[in-house]
Amino acid sequence: MSQFGPEYIRAIAPYQAGKPISEVAREFGLDEANIVKLASNENPFGVPASAQAAMAAAAAELGRYPDANGFDLKAALAARYDVPADWITLGNGSNDILEIAAHAFVQKGQGVIYSQYSFAVYALAAQGVGARGVSVPARGHGHDLDAMAAAIDADTRLLYIANPNNPTGTFIPAAEIEAFLAKVPAHVVVVLDEAYNEFLEEKDQFESTAWVRNHPNLIVSRTFSKAYGLAGLRVGFAIAQPALTDLMNRVRQPFNVNSLAQAAAIAALNDKAFLEKGAENNRAGYRQLTAAFDELGLEYVPSYGNFVLVKVGEDEGAGARVNIALLKQGVIVRPVGAYGLPQWLRISIGLPDENARFVDALKKALG
Ligand SMILES: *Cc1c(COP(=O)(O)O)cnc(C)c1O
Repeated sequence: MSQFGPEYIRAIAPYQAGKPISEVAREFGLDEANIVKLASNENPFGVPASAQAAMAAAAAELGRYPDANGFDLKAALAARYDVPADWITLGNGSNDILEIAAHAFVQKGQGVIYSQYSFAVYALAAQGVGARGVSVPARGHGHDLDAMAAAIDADTRLLYIANPNNPTGTFIPAAEIEAFLAKVPAHVVVVLDEAYNEFLEEKDQFESTAWVRNHPNLIVSRTFSKAYGLAGLRVGFAIAQPALTDLMNRVRQPFNVNSLAQAAAIAALNDKAFLEKGAENNRAGYRQLTAAFDELGLEYVPSYGNFVLVKVGEDEGAGARVNIALLKQGVIVRPVGAYGLPQWLRISIGLPDENARFVDALKKALG
């Protein structure tokens, strides 16, 4: 046990990321080219060509620091979401936004609320500032907003909602979020984490950014990592009124979003064709995976994201066991035992042949 650091830092269990392809190749003696990775909700089409071209052009200027205020990217986002540029905070991935919010708004010992089975980073961000993390039991596999509202007390400063949620894929309709926001007291900052917003069908879409106008305590968080295919670059953003944005700007690193990321994000934001291709592939892949689960008689949680949570057995060791059997066949998915879901695996939706490879391997793994 280390003698260094505060107790609340020593209590942190590190985030478990999806295994990189190179690591699985080494560990299992496999050829990297034959490995399928459906573990981190990455975009199966990779980086958009438009973003690659923008990065190539920006590379010549890498000797200089990035624009610390991200002028061009903020201008593009402001135009897209119809908000002033000074309502935008850029992040080194939206993960950065989630942490910046904890640093800006929460003091040691104050309360941070999130849902059971929601994104692991919320608890980590709370722990990182020595806050009192409050995990509210889920309803089904999703957020219980009534219970979350009831968990708010005088010491609560921050509340995270993932919509759609990761790793379960559940979705809260607009009307329920609006009713919830109306109940949240003014001293509590709400981070609405919409990392998968772009995958929603039109009927489920809503301009949550417009809610920011009506709610001075609301932060909407989005990312370029999933639908836009830029996970490795690390770029996300938040939209909030100036009172919140100003404080977040004070605690972020001055150059938290690098120049290639800023250039690529602008290109990707304007690449409608790439987004549409991804959404279409996602819908087809969802049907492909869930048809296989139905055929195999496996329970799954209906998902609004680019992944599906599936129950691969009844015993507590099921997820870990099936995961190893898949890895041996060169298929990487995400075990979610650390989320308290040891019987389940989270499968990112890939290209049709990647999904098929996974289904074949799953059938073998289940015997
Ligand atoms: C993937 C994800 C993020 C963060 O992704 P970044 O790459 O840091 O932008 C945030 N929230 C949820 C719910 C996610 O699944």
